[in-house]
Amino acid sequence: MDAAIDQPAWQHIRYEQPAPRVARIVLARSEVANAQDYRMISELNEAFDVAARDENVRVIILAADGNHFSSGHDLRAGTDMSDIDPIGTWCCFGADGAEGYMATEAEMYVGMCWRWRNIPKPTIAQVQGKVIAGGLMLVWPMDLVVCSDDATFADPVVAFSMNGHEYFTHAFEAGARLAKEMLFTGRPITADEAYRRGMVNQVVPRDELESTTLALAEHIARRPMFGLTLAKQSVNNTLDAMGMYTAIQSAFGLHHVGHNHNLRLHGSLVDPAGLQVIRDEA
Ligand code: ZN
Repeated sequence: MDAAIDQPAWQHIRYEQPAPRVARIVLARSEVANAQDYRMISELNEAFDVAARDENVRVIILAADGNHFSSGHDLRAGTDMSDIDPIGTWCCFGADGAEGYMATEAEMYVGMCWRWRNIPKPTIAQVQGKVIAGGLMLVWPMDLVVCSDDATFADPVVAFSMNGHEYFTHAFEAGARLAKEMLFTGRPITADEAYRRGMVNQVVPRDELESTTLALAEHIARRPMFGLTLAKQSVNNTLDAMGMYTAIQSAFGLHHVGHNHNLRLHGSLVDPAGLQVIRDEA
């Protein structure tokens, strides 16, 4: 059954209710491999809020149209915040120096991911094809990950003289050793590797991805909402006690050292030579 939910303003996502107590948010920019512009991120946030506040929803799936889950941030879309209603407490997005862009990324990237990570309902990423850099920022904040056997996960931005994407939970998600290899080499991790390292819960054939994810969501949704919330909160609190939030904020500071280093040397937020490094290895 699909929801009769009013979603006229959403252009880059869809909101569905494929089963009782289950909401599914779908990235709907397959023509650009679900690259995320600020509109998509804002729409995602609105949709997560709808699902979070709906008393009839217990589990939220985040899925994607097309061959690839997400190619990352849409760099061609620019960083203009004038059409965006902030949900956090940052301001001065157009300020000079480090101030404006740090506020922008704190609002649009780290702030959103942390907010979604803390939704008090179970969330499941349903992942196929490529997940690149900012694409990981939609997978890692989710509680569970089901992926198809063709899924790959990469954060190649060290080639651009950066530490990694902005929601820096790499060591928590992939383990410190593999996290360093991913970052140093830019190499995509395969679905099988991700499974062996505990980064994903299940790997299935592509044609079973949607049904497997939905079955898992329905299984979870048979449990009482409050029990699920308490369980999620307890695991998240454990990660927080291990320093997850502080680690993210620390890496975010270094991320902006990287952006400002590149601005001073190259006049752009990332080292333009990185593109050639990536192309040479393709
Ligand atoms: Zn950045």
